Amino acid sequence: MLTCKKAINQISNYLDGDLDEELKHTLETHLTKCHHCHAVFDTTKKTIELYCDGKLFSLPQEVHTRLHEALRRKLQVRS
Ligand SMILES: [Zn+2]
Repeated sequence: MLTCKKAINQISNYLDGDLDEELKHTLETHLTKCHHCHAVFDTTKKTIELYCDGKLFSLPQEVHTRLHEALRRKLQVRS
């Protein structure tokens, strides 16, 4: 079972195409069931698309770091 915290940690890796098939599937399943994580996923995806002009791969390290920071803050606010 994937916790919300773990799911959110994996979202940017997922969007980067960095996850193996099993984890990808686990995350996708979680996203269909969990509205909170799905909302985070959506926001992250849109942010990345904005940064990369639709290119979902090869995020610059700086963007990666900033996204992780933002997600971590979101988690802290919630818990
Ligand atoms: Zn969740």
